[in-house]
Amino acid sequence: MVEKRRIGILGGTFNPIHLGHLMIAEVACESFNLEKVIFVPARIPPHKQHDVIDSRHRYAMAAAAVADNPNFEISDIEMRREGPSYTVDTIQHFKIIYGPNVEFYFIAGTDTIRALPTWKFIEELLDEVHFIGATRPDGTSVIDATLDELGPKAHEKIHVMEVPEMKLSATYLRDRLRSGKTVRYMLPKCVVDYIEKNHIYGKE
Ligand code: ATP
Repeated sequence: MVEKRRIGILGGTFNPIHLGHLMIAEVACESFNLEKVIFVPARIPPHKQHDVIDSRHRYAMAAAAVADNPNFEISDIEMRREGPSYTVDTIQHFKIIYGPNVEFYFIAGTDTIRALPTWKFIEELLDEVHFIGATRPDGTSVIDATLDELGPKAHEKIHVMEVPEMKLSATYLRDRLRSGKTVRYMLPKCVVDYIEKNHIYGKE
């Protein structure tokens, strides 16, 4: 049997994109033998409405951050869609584009994996994609209860990926930026430059 191509998808709010996102994409590429990882910024994240800046800025920062890695790509599919950015719709889009000979691996942090039971059409999504849960140092890495809640399909399709855990989140970075603290070496330099140039996450 011919092996299917494997493509990773990293969906997120990217408010802003940071080294935690890039690191889990890189490690997933290597660990799961992915041909590439497509970053998909959500225009309207269904689970995050508070303190989310304009999607055009979030998209531009993510595009700049992935530009120098030949294994990374960015997609504007969720930018172009009206209404909440549901992953189930995004996967349908990629399935049409790439055809039947591709397996998709949705990369997320284990905090996101824990929230999967609340996702729209999660049963259908588990039929369509694998999930890779990157460990985070926030006590969320144990996902056994989530797997049990979602049933046998989840045990088969959700994989935990050990990564060098980074206590870095977009919330933490926004807080630092607003209090005028340094974020150097926590974000790619091009993203720091973009934030400064466009006066986003301004000091309060
Ligand atoms: P926020 O702090 O605003 O909630 P975030 O840093 O978690 O944001 P998102 O854009 O929501 O960033 O994250 C996209 C995906 O990347 C999510 O599945 C999240 O769990 C994962 N992720 C983010 N930061 C890390 C990290 N440091 N280690 C592992 N996974 C991460």
